[in-house]
Amino acid sequence: MTQNKNILQDRFGRDHTYLRISLIERCNLRCTYCMPEEGVQLSPKSHIMTYEEIYEISKTFVDHGVTKIRLTGGEPLIRKDFPIILEKLAALPITLSITSNAVIIDRFIDVLKANGVNDINVSLDSLSKEKFKAITRRDQFEKVYDNILLLVKEGFNVKVNAVLIKDFNDNEIIDFINLTKDLPITIRFIEFMPFDGNKWDLSKMVSHADVMQYVDEAFPKTDVIRLQDAPNDTSRNFKIKGYKGSFAIISSVTNPFCDSCNRLRLTANGQLKNCLFSATESDLLTTLRSGKPIAPIIQRAVAAKLKMRGGMDTLEKLQEPKLHSKNRSMITIGG
Ligand code: SAM
Ligand code: SF4
Repeated sequence: MTQNKNILQDRFGRDHTYLRISLIERCNLRCTYCMPEEGVQLSPKSHIMTYEEIYEISKTFVDHGVTKIRLTGGEPLIRKDFPIILEKLAALPITLSITSNAVIIDRFIDVLKANGVNDINVSLDSLSKEKFKAITRRDQFEKVYDNILLLVKEGFNVKVNAVLIKDFNDNEIIDFINLTKDLPITIRFIEFMPFDGNKWDLSKMVSHADVMQYVDEAFPKTDVIRLQDAPNDTSRNFKIKGYKGSFAIISSVTNPFCDSCNRLRLTANGQLKNCLFSATESDLLTTLRSGKPIAPIIQRAVAAKLKMRGGMDTLEKLQEPKLHSKNRSMITIGG
């Protein structure tokens, strides 16, 4: 039942129809840009949403207009009840998708298909086994690469997310794009973003402009085709003429897409974040557990959403550790 009042519209007229739910704070990889070396303080198990609570909260969002839910983490597939969560959410009138590091995704092909999941985003930051190990602190390159090929073979719509870091993997940009010659996948280059504990600094970031410089040097201008971006898309999309796949750039740092943002985020411990960069959170889980309605809290959280990057509306503010470290580490937000 859709309510009359649009509680998911903020004061800038943005309708939040897309909810990203983090299922778990833990992961089977340890990507340096996502998880601090010393690890993160995990929530006690009793503070993590159960599958029933994930369903209840999701249903409230869907009743108010959410049409798309993406499951993420941490690594969503290492949650034991992942198939149950998927099955429950698949009963809602939504498009359901996941973001995974794909280390164990081969075990879930049937359950993903049975529950109508078609869109899968997989993280892969390097095509070199050694560099993969350096960035993820785990030796799982072959597994991930083979699983990407498996997902394509099984007919899923696969997007590969690569976080670019200067002098680490920027020399692989063209190798990644060349993968799209024969593979019908989208490679998405993500500008390295600052979160608590990830040792970000602007000089490590490879910008949209840097990526395009590599592309311009490698391909004739007439072969680089700018594609139409989907509405609310966070990426700018391109393809090389004649290639089966495409590539895209997500430039939250140098060229943010806040004007058309339609996303809200729910952390594994039931906190609503109105922006990836917001320093504040709204506790939906405690309210749900106390038997009170969560819709008024959602409404207040959406109404309080700031215009751009949780208030870090300039590059100067984004570079201020006092500001970006008020946020969680990415592993506990859910990217
Ligand atoms: N474990 C899953 C995975 O890696 O795909 C899902 C969770 S992960 C936090 C979601 C996405 O966030 C990944 O694509 C990852 O590359 C991205 N991410 C994490 N930290 C980031 C950072 N500091 N800057 C940009 N993207 C980041
Ligand atoms: Fe795990 Fe994904 Fe974070 Fe890497 S990016 S540590 S795979 S949650």
